[in-house]
Amino acid sequence: MNDTQARILALREQLDTYNEQYYVADAPTVPDVEYDRLMRELIALEQAHPEWLDSSSPSQKVGGAPVSAFPEVRHALPMLSLDNVFSDDELAAFEKRLHSRLGSDAPIEFCCEPKLDGLAVSLLYERGRLVQAATRGDGSTGEGITENVRTIKAIPLRLRGDDWPARLEVRGEVFMPSAGFERMNEAARACGDKVFANPRNAAAGSLRQLDSRVTAKRPLAFYCYGVGLVEGEPLGERHFDILQRLKGWGLPVSPEVKRMQGRAGCEQYHDDILHRRDRLPYEIDGVVYKVDELALQERLGFVARAPRWATAHKFPAQEELTRLLNVEFQV
Ligand code: NAD
Repeated sequence: MNDTQARILALREQLDTYNEQYYVADAPTVPDVEYDRLMRELIALEQAHPEWLDSSSPSQKVGGAPVSAFPEVRHALPMLSLDNVFSDDELAAFEKRLHSRLGSDAPIEFCCEPKLDGLAVSLLYERGRLVQAATRGDGSTGEGITENVRTIKAIPLRLRGDDWPARLEVRGEVFMPSAGFERMNEAARACGDKVFANPRNAAAGSLRQLDSRVTAKRPLAFYCYGVGLVEGEPLGERHFDILQRLKGWGLPVSPEVKRMQGRAGCEQYHDDILHRRDRLPYEIDGVVYKVDELALQERLGFVARAPRWATAHKFPAQEELTRLLNVEFQV
């Protein structure tokens, strides 16, 4: 085995450990920026050496295995992750790849959304009633957390109106707004209890509780950002329009969602939200750009762990290693 191969194996092992700590135990030991750095190194090495690519590599997988304490829920359509860009140059390369795959230089419209830092959930509505909620898990199987999700006030138990499909799977992010997070940690500190490291871990730990009465006391919120399984007629031809329909049925959609033209529009959106980041009532770790037209999304398709038609544009990290290591975690 040469040095590069040994490095690839070491990175895979390290990242598998971090994934287990983050996704299964809700207790990361390194900041995201460090995780992202190692993941990018692994991806670069695997791209340079396709002969060593392995489908069980963390670069090819989504999330972590579901915890057996919860019932298993098989996702009708996989719940994937997102690819990342970290700079305007990488965004330009993303747009160029889209043009080249589509074989056209026609400007592309994007639905631009905040990248909420919480936990992805799938909500299944049958005849307008919430019947099942699940985490993303490993992308194909998640954890059934229906009772816990029923305690989140922002999530309607019944949809408004009557023009929804008989079966509708809504996808979105459960998160903890900053004010609720601070209040909860202050109360924990006052009682000498452990505090959460950040709102993301607080949201994940609160949602994956075995006792839904505990979840009910946690200040959780929700925004939806897409659909999974939809029975019958498609909900629309464009992602942005579908979000507006979900909103009409009483599902919360972020007021920051906007349709923008091409890379220049995305950059403008990114800069505006980055500028206002500290004034938003919740934490975000970036923004997401999605090709708006579903027909184009279909032509672009997916790779192993992410759609080709979307990318996250990550913000510079706020979390320092020292801060994270000095905090004890509570699940
Ligand atoms: P991701 O967070 O980079 O992107 C995918 C997720 O973004 C989705 O599953 C969804 O939950 C969320 N999301 C938020 N807003 C969205 C929107 N508007 N539209 C679509 N999705 C939206 O990917 P991931 O696979 O969940 O996690 C990978 C990231 O998690 C890493 O880049 C790293 O930052 C962090 N991580 C950290 C550790 C650690 O040890 N610190 C370990 C594993 C993962």
